Amino acid sequence: MRIDGKGIANKRKDDVKVKIDTLKQEGKRIPKLVVILVGEDPASKVYVRNKDRACQYTGMLSEIIRLEDTISEDDLLNEIDRLNKDDSVDGILVQLPIPKHINEEKILNFIDPAKDVDGFHPVNVAKLFLNQGGLVPCTPQGMMVILDEINYDLTGKEVVVVGRSNIVGKPVALLCLHRNATVTMCHSRTQDLKSVCKRADVLIAAIGKPKFFNHEYVKDGAVVLDVGINRDENNKLCGDVDYEDVKDIASYITPVPGGIGPMTISMLMENTLKAYEKREEEK
Ligand code: NAP
Repeated sequence: MRIDGKGIANKRKDDVKVKIDTLKQEGKRIPKLVVILVGEDPASKVYVRNKDRACQYTGMLSEIIRLEDTISEDDLLNEIDRLNKDDSVDGILVQLPIPKHINEEKILNFIDPAKDVDGFHPVNVAKLFLNQGGLVPCTPQGMMVILDEINYDLTGKEVVVVGRSNIVGKPVALLCLHRNATVTMCHSRTQDLKSVCKRADVLIAAIGKPKFFNHEYVKDGAVVLDVGINRDENNKLCGDVDYEDVKDIASYITPVPGGIGPMTISMLMENTLKAYEKREEEK
């Protein structure tokens, strides 16, 4: 069965909107997300525009700071410092990639962990590792919401995650482990990937290779979550999974587009609201 990620994401955004409407009615401060876009990368511009639209939809305040790709590392750090100190700002997101002359690690580590709505700061990574709450990266969190929506209990299930990035593979593996799944992580050096994947009750594909996973990788009745965003031979958007080849084997499968992608943005709205609530609570 096709999982309607877009529909689930819209529902979750509506929930955020209701909460923000209530804050407005009560005359309270409104959560604010600031996105920093460095340079002119076309894909980044689209992502930033979509994030801004989601803010407008939910009623969240939003600001996009557009900076030249020649900006120095120090100037970017100063900008983040200003936002860290600005009490009206709840979420700070630096759209990646950033130009090569700037140290990405230094930038991400400089964002106040309480405002780190991408969940990339080492403090939030450690909290995820220890299962202590904190801000969790949006894409992995979106996958957990999808599993909840289909009432899928991970307890004792075999989850195979292919791809070990810090933003998708590793965090989603931890989230599944915290839900008592038996987790296997695969990557480009994994031997006999097909048979490892074929064991999976839940297969999470996050490698960035168009239509890589066909029926030979998927067990009958498996849940398939496709994170990949690629272009196929006709320049059409597609995932890492060959959807047409796998859809009748899988019990549930996310399409691309319309699957995990929209979930990521709605989780960003939720993370910003969460950061706001936590900051208000601590005042
Ligand atoms: P990434 O940093 O691009 O890394 C790719 C991972 O896949 C690496 O761990 C790599 O292994 C592994 N890999 C590559 N080829 C492989 C192969 N043939 N067999 C097994 N493993 C292989 O990963 P990412 O940033 O997580 O992105 C993955 C995909 O997800 C991309 O298409 C990206 O656009 C998409 N994405 C989507 C969303 C969303 O919102 N839907 C969010 C983030 C990313 P090694 O570590 O051994 O090199």
